[in-house]
Amino acid sequence: MTQTHIDITSLKATAPSAQAAAEAAARWKVADVAALYELPFNELMFRAQQVHREHFDANAVQLSTLLSIKTGGCEEDCAYCPQSAHHDTELEAGKLMEVGAVLAAARAAKAAASMSATRGEANHA
Ligand code: SF4
Repeated sequence: MTQTHIDITSLKATAPSAQAAAEAAARWKVADVAALYELPFNELMFRAQQVHREHFDANAVQLSTLLSIKTGGCEEDCAYCPQSAHHDTELEAGKLMEVGAVLAAARAAKAAASMSATRGEANHA
């Protein structure tokens, strides 16, 4: 049996700090969130474009390539997901890909100016 190891020491925590959470809570009252939720779709799109253009090139988009490095057999029971082992979805499950194969795919995606990898099981964001 081959074991794979991924060095996660360089990964940074993504959970917001207590200060950031407090600042967000102060900025976003429930009524503010509800008002945003109730906006007509085109108004929401317009506002999103305004914010986008303040921070990014208006006509540039990031392309990403998703790679399922472990397909099917997930122990979670998310009813909508064909990766779940709890339902017969006719998905052909695959073992966790070898690190070398993942790296090769990532390099190929990077060379094609797009890269992102996902692992089809629990604890993904
Ligand atoms: S945890 Fe993710 S991969 Fe697993 S069943 Fe739920 S959505 Fe699908």
